[in-house]
Amino acid sequence: MAIKVCKFGGTSLAAGNVIRSVKSIIESDKERRFIVVSAPGKRYSGDTKVTDMLYACQSARDREELKKLFAPVRNRFTNIIKELDLSFQIEALLDEAEQQIFLKKQEDFTASRGEYICGMIMAEVLGAKFIDAKDVIFFKADGTLNDEKTYKCVEAALSGVSRAVISGFYGTDADGNIKTFSRGGSDISGAIVARAVNASVYENWTDVSGFLACDPRIVDSPKRVKQISYKEFRELSYMGADLLHCESVFPVCKANIPILIKNTFRPQDEGTAILPTSRYIQSGTTVTGIAGKKNFTIIFIEKANMNSEAGFMCKVLQVLSDENVLIEHIPSGIDTMSLVIESNQLDGKLERVIEGIKKAVLPDTVRVSKDIALIATVGYGMSSSIGTSARLFKAIAVANINIRIIEQGSSEINIIVGVRNEDYENCIRAIYGEFFN
Ligand code: ASP
Repeated sequence: MAIKVCKFGGTSLAAGNVIRSVKSIIESDKERRFIVVSAPGKRYSGDTKVTDMLYACQSARDREELKKLFAPVRNRFTNIIKELDLSFQIEALLDEAEQQIFLKKQEDFTASRGEYICGMIMAEVLGAKFIDAKDVIFFKADGTLNDEKTYKCVEAALSGVSRAVISGFYGTDADGNIKTFSRGGSDISGAIVARAVNASVYENWTDVSGFLACDPRIVDSPKRVKQISYKEFRELSYMGADLLHCESVFPVCKANIPILIKNTFRPQDEGTAILPTSRYIQSGTTVTGIAGKKNFTIIFIEKANMNSEAGFMCKVLQVLSDENVLIEHIPSGIDTMSLVIESNQLDGKLERVIEGIKKAVLPDTVRVSKDIALIATVGYGMSSSIGTSARLFKAIAVANINIRIIEQGSSEINIIVGVRNEDYENCIRAIYGEFFN
C-alpha cells in the first residue's frame, strides 16, 4: 500500500474543533500513515502562535517571570485538551516543559516545545505512536542536516508502524542539543519523513486551497495554480510567496515525490501539486506566478573596462563576504556591476561596504539606490514562448513604472525586475493583468 505523509500545523491545529477535522481527514484515508505536526498557530487574526509565545519565554529573567510568560502556552494547550475532552496528563507535561526551559535556557529547545507537546496530543487523538524528532532527525556540526543518519533513523523508527505522529521543526545537533530549522521548518521535517519512507505524496495541509498566482492582498481573487514545478515553486517561495518553507522541496525532489498543498478547512478542494519537472504538465499559461519583496538596496559600481580586469568581481564580493552580507543578485555590464542586497543586511554596514569597495577596486563611481522592490515573474512557459519579456516590460511601461534593474535567471523560467518600493503593488497588478486577465 502506498504511504502518504501529511504535515499539519499552524491554524490547522490551533484549537480543538479544527483538530477534530484533522482527525477525520487523516482517518478518511488509510494511506495517511505518518503525520508531522507543528505547534498550534493563530485561531484568528491578531492571535499569537504558540511558537512566538515560547520565543517570548526566552527573555524571562527568573522563575516568576517565566511562569507569567509561559502562562499563555499553558492556557492554549489546556484549552485544546478540554475542547477535545481528552483524559491526557497535560499539566504534568507542561510543568516539565516549563521546568526544562528554565534549566536549559536554550532558545531552540524552548521553541521546540510547541511541536513536542502538540505531537504528543495528536498521537493521543489518533491513537498513534508518538515519535520525538530528537530521536530521528540529526544535524551535523556545521548546522546542515545529517542526511544519512536522519533517513536511516526515520525509516527504522517508522517501519512496521501503522500510524505515527512525528513532531516537526527540530532535531538533535552534533552536541546532542535540540536544534530547530528556521521558522516554518516543520514543512522541511514533513519532507524529510516523506523521503525517508518513500511516500507516494507529501500532503501539506494549510488554511488555503493552494498556491495563488499572486498575493491576494494586492490582486483581488487571483487565479489558483493547480500544478507547479519544484523549480518554479522555489523561485516564487524564495521571493515571498510564503505558503510553504522554500527548502521543503530539497528532500522530496531527490526522490521525485510530489507535494500536495491542501486546505484543512476545505478538504474537498483540489489544492496545488508541486511536481518534478518531468511530471509537470504545463497548464497552458506562459506565467505560473508572480511574487516579490520590498526593501532592497542596489549598489551600482562603475569602472571603465572593468571586464578586462582579472578578479574585479571577486575583490568586490570579498568585501561583502568580510562584512557577512548576503547578495541576492549581481546584474552586470562591460563597465558596470550592480549588487542587489536586502536592505536589512546592510544595517550599520553600508558606509563600511562602500569604503571597502572603493579601496578594493578603485571604481570610477559607486552609487547607492535604496527602497527598491524586486518582483519575480515565473513560469516554465516563458522559456519557450517568444515575446514574453516584451509583454512584461510593456505592461510595466504602460503602468508608468520605471524599471531600475532587470535580471533573468539562467534557467529562463524567471524574470526579475527592480522597481521603487512605492511602485510595487501597481507593478504586480500590471504584470498580473497582462498574463492572467
Ligand atoms: N512552529 C514553528 C514556527 O512557527 C515551525 C513551523 O510552524 O513550521 O515557525
